[in-house]
Amino acid sequence: FLPHLVASMEQVEETYIMVKPDGVQRGLAGEIISRFEKKGFKLTGLKLFQCPKELAEEHYKDLSSKSFFPNLIEYITSGPVICMAWEGVGVVASARKLIGSTNPLQAEPGTIRGDLAVHTGRNVVHGSDSPENGKREIALWFKEGEICQWTSAQGPWLRE
Ligand code: UDP
Ligand code: MG
Repeated sequence: FLPHLVASMEQVEETYIMVKPDGVQRGLAGEIISRFEKKGFKLTGLKLFQCPKELAEEHYKDLSSKSFFPNLIEYITSGPVICMAWEGVGVVASARKLIGSTNPLQAEPGTIRGDLAVHTGRNVVHGSDSPENGKREIALWFKEGEICQWTSAQGPWLRE
């Protein structure tokens, strides 16, 4: 049994994280980026971006039948967002935990939504809900050449 081999087989995932327009407007972008940075995940893409309506609709297409969909599209396109791609073992589920419940009043203290928001319709941040959607959303929000593959100097200090 070779633990280092097991560790090296752990799946590196990628997730799409977005500071929503309220997060940008409220000056929370640095704080939100910092949560993922401090945790130890690797940033591979980052930009400030005004989202067109068509892209917002594609991103949230699974929710298109919901009554809140028009408001959601209006919200996401109401000002610039910060688009991010983060990489790491277990990053998808871990980022969802760092973000907290969809309804910020139900989100645990210590999570981004639990600490920084009060309403589902203004919950400051998005995170992909599966590795497949992580890939799909990064491909949707970033163009070729906007994702950087790099080696972090922190590697051996983060994982045994
Ligand atoms: N949303 C909303 N009202 C609702 C449910 C969701 O306005 O009743 C918005 C909210 O901004 C949420 C987004 O739609 O973050 C996507 O919903 P989802 O259920 O995927 O929540 P998330 O994955 O963001 O926690
Ligand atoms: Mg979701």
